[in-house]
Amino acid sequence: MEPSPLFKGLTAYAASQGWQYIYPVWSRRAQGLSIGINLHPNHCCNWHCLYCQVPGLQRGPSPTIDGPQLMQELKDCLDWLSQHCAPQTMQDCVQDIAFAGDGEPTTSPQFIEILHSLIQLLQQRPLQDRPAHVRLITNGSQLQHAHVQHALKRLNEIGGEVWFKLDAGTDAEMLAINDTHLPLSLHLQRLQTCCTLCTTWVQTAVVSRTVEGKLVTTPSLAGYQEALLTERGAISGILLYGIARPSQQDHQGCLQTTSTVMLEHYAEELRTLGVCVRVFE
Ligand code: SF4
Repeated sequence: MEPSPLFKGLTAYAASQGWQYIYPVWSRRAQGLSIGINLHPNHCCNWHCLYCQVPGLQRGPSPTIDGPQLMQELKDCLDWLSQHCAPQTMQDCVQDIAFAGDGEPTTSPQFIEILHSLIQLLQQRPLQDRPAHVRLITNGSQLQHAHVQHALKRLNEIGGEVWFKLDAGTDAEMLAINDTHLPLSLHLQRLQTCCTLCTTWVQTAVVSRTVEGKLVTTPSLAGYQEALLTERGAISGILLYGIARPSQQDHQGCLQTTSTVMLEHYAEELRTLGVCVRVFE
């Protein structure tokens, strides 16, 4: 799907305004225009995924967010869209507002405060003058914390949803792809918690890479299917995607494009679990 003129116009407007926290994205998975909220303009994340597209990604603490500035940027963005969506409504032409950005949103101590402010802002606008969805795109690593669980409940109350990262079928794959020593079993417990709190989609990057001269694709299907066995009835589905944009972390040049045939093979196998699977090349 080609980027819309609305996306191009908003991108130019965002650049002219020098926004720090709000950014437009033409999103494959959201299938259209998405408004991103970036709580990590310092490019710090607690994971270091092999395919991550964030330039200069580092490990480190979340920065202090200027909440009023972020909300002003978001308000300006929505006002600009209101003026430029016509004759369509914003619901029709903006797919979502998504917490995403250049690091894991839920590691920010201000995540819940910003979510509350966002909900207030949206509730002041007519329904048709809001984006269609509010989403949290997360690696799920903070789901054990009560304040994050509380935020997810609030997200659920406004009809929002979570996209929860699961790229592995074994501990070794979590380490190789996400560069985290978190055991897969613990990650799956957090997925389970997430599903009890809010509508949850699993999002999975199918990664092909060269290891010692051989092409390896992760997650390994058997391990991944087993990992999802318990939660298959609790998740809304799986968003399965290949790596479309160049990684900024693949310093050895080992990543390969995942073929359409491979993605479709994964999707077919996973559908045998009775799960909805959407594929994004
Ligand atoms: S969790 Fe997201 S932001 Fe963090 S390293 Fe992985 S892809 Fe990048």
